[in-house]
Amino acid sequence: MNPLIRVIPAFLVRFFAKPYVAGDSLQKAMDVVHGLHRERGLVATLDLLAEDIHTEERAHANRDTYLRMVDAIAASPLSAAARPTLSMKPSSYTIHPMQRGGDARGTREAIFAIVEHARSKGVLTTVDMEGRQWTDYTLRLLQELHAAGHSDVGCVLQTRLDRTERDLDALPKGIRVRVVIGIYREPADVAVTDKVTMKERLLTLSEKLLRRGHYVEFATHDDGYVRRFLDEVVPRVGAGKDRYEVQMLYGVPRDRFLADLRSKGVTARLYVPFALGWDMAIQYLRRRLDEFPAMALLVTKNLFLRR
Ligand SMILES: Cc1cc2nc3c(=O)[nH]c(=O)nc-3n(C[C@H](O)[C@H](O)[C@H](O)COP(=O)(O)OP(=O)(O)OC[C@H]3O[C@@H](n4cnc5c(N)ncnc54)[C@H](O)[C@@H]3O)c2cc1C
Repeated sequence: MNPLIRVIPAFLVRFFAKPYVAGDSLQKAMDVVHGLHRERGLVATLDLLAEDIHTEERAHANRDTYLRMVDAIAASPLSAAARPTLSMKPSSYTIHPMQRGGDARGTREAIFAIVEHARSKGVLTTVDMEGRQWTDYTLRLLQELHAAGHSDVGCVLQTRLDRTERDLDALPKGIRVRVVIGIYREPADVAVTDKVTMKERLLTLSEKLLRRGHYVEFATHDDGYVRRFLDEVVPRVGAGKDRYEVQMLYGVPRDRFLADLRSKGVTARLYVPFALGWDMAIQYLRRRLDEFPAMALLVTKNLFLRR
């Protein structure tokens, strides 16, 4: 992460990155999800911002919040197809995270509990992919989940990592896969560092996944690559609209493009994060700022234009 972004005070990070967070309660997040569907025909995946935790109580509280998220989704008036899915970060349930040399103690049990509850209520889940220290652990966990019958749990592959191509063979059969470039900066001995290569890999990886029978969640804000996925990859494979969707992050201004996708009948899903405590949202928000520093300028400009 850019050292400058690392030292921006938390209150300023929160200010600049506010448009990217749906609110500070589950109710507010569900209101956003319902509004997105009612007004724009978009579906969502809901995420609790809860990283960088340091107490067992917090780890358990995160698991319990996810169990409540399942209940809130199951109680939603939306049809089954329009209901949000859940996205979970393995680091949210352990105080021994892999990036600090830990063994992720507690994560497996928490995710199994959430997934079992979600399955009983017909709610789909996805395990997000974090930094490279988590890749082996996460892929193994997905294999275990699928072997235990949780075939509705999806995963994420990051095209920046050189290993990703090899990881295809380790994927559970038919698993839903979100394809992203990856937000965690990784060293050049394990990852590509130029964005064009990462993005070209979005296309090649998605094509391979479709050909292997996976449902592809094409997740990027780069309109040009979304178009190439839809206009080149999808017809080449002959994939129907029930085989893929496009995903973007809540708050990134892509309204017109998403409306255009919807008018063509393509499923478009927004990743909607909410926070119960801003302290736990700061890591996510810093990464957004690091990735797109112009966001600070945009937010400031909008503030003055509104007045
Ligand atoms: C739904 C979803 C889920 C994700 N899940 C994961 C995950 O589990 N693991 C993981 O490592 N990564 C995840 N990511 C992040 C992803 O890996 C990328 O870091 C992120 O999407 C930025 O890359 P991009 O492909 O959009 O291309 P970029 O080149 O970064 O963005 C394309 C264009 O979009 C615009 N843009 C990008 N970001 C912003 C912004 N913040 N504000 C305003 N405009 C912006 C800019 O105009 C930019 O030129 C996810 C992304 C999405 C959309």
